[in-house]
Amino acid sequence: MAMNGSEPQITVGCHVSTSGGVELAPGRGHAIGCDAMQLFTRNQRSWRTRPLAEEEIAAFREARAASRLRTVMSHDSYLINLASPVAEMRGKSIAAFEDELVRCHQLGIELLNFHPGSHLASGVAQGIATLVESLDLICAHHPETTGVTLVLETVAGQGTNLGRTFEEIAAILDGVREPARFAVCVDTCHCFAAGYDLVSDAGWEASWDAFDRILGLQRLAAFHVNDSKGAFDSRKDRHARLGRGAMGAAPFLRLVTDPRTRHVPMFLETPTDPAGYAAEIVWLRTMAATGAIPPLPPAEEVKGQL
Ligand SMILES: [Zn+2]
Ligand SMILES: [Zn+2]
Repeated sequence: MAMNGSEPQITVGCHVSTSGGVELAPGRGHAIGCDAMQLFTRNQRSWRTRPLAEEEIAAFREARAASRLRTVMSHDSYLINLASPVAEMRGKSIAAFEDELVRCHQLGIELLNFHPGSHLASGVAQGIATLVESLDLICAHHPETTGVTLVLETVAGQGTNLGRTFEEIAAILDGVREPARFAVCVDTCHCFAAGYDLVSDAGWEASWDAFDRILGLQRLAAFHVNDSKGAFDSRKDRHARLGRGAMGAAPFLRLVTDPRTRHVPMFLETPTDPAGYAAEIVWLRTMAATGAIPPLPPAEEVKGQL
């Protein structure tokens, strides 16, 4: 597919630390070799946030413009549960989500990734209904933020988490009043642990046929690129370094060469540090350019922020 003699390009990067200030992330991402970057715009393990200062916003936008970053995605707080049957939890979650949406809008971040949430004891149908109601409220409160796409992440399906199957994601997107503001992020680890066989040729084909039939490939806005420590269909959300988990290297070659997936921005969330991410990014780019699997990046793990 090379055009004008150039190599097929993928847009790839990783989760980047914002320690010391959100405006430091673009330079870090650039130094790692990212042209796609994911970040937390706030402490993801705390409900409390401090509004962004004008100077921080300006500095972030400047740093991004000076970098090679083409795509930036925020990952919302893990504390948020928009599907909670508990009114107090749901109220806090809506407020925190709106806060994050406004931060993305201020920073010029175009993708906001979030987990659909957990229905707890209320059941899948009630959980989806509650989530849809929360998302409609959020969208109605913030008509100014249509430049930020709300990205539903597929999950492994631990406990009562919503969004394990493409059908559940479709039910959410079919329910919301403003579906054009939404898209989907497939996490390769979650998807494999959820029971989609991304490893065999037939499984890869069947999974993308199903995605296209149930959701439509045009909905696919991002990949979280992770191998899985959990076995196929284990419902366990445990990321491994690329090629070192239960998935192995082959699915990642497919990911960066299949015309249905290779143009989609890819974000690594593997257990490693900036040097490890840099090696995995080079590995993916090399596969995209050559169509073959080079030697694996190092196996060594570093406990990161994810
Ligand atoms: Zn993920
Ligand atoms: Zn995960």
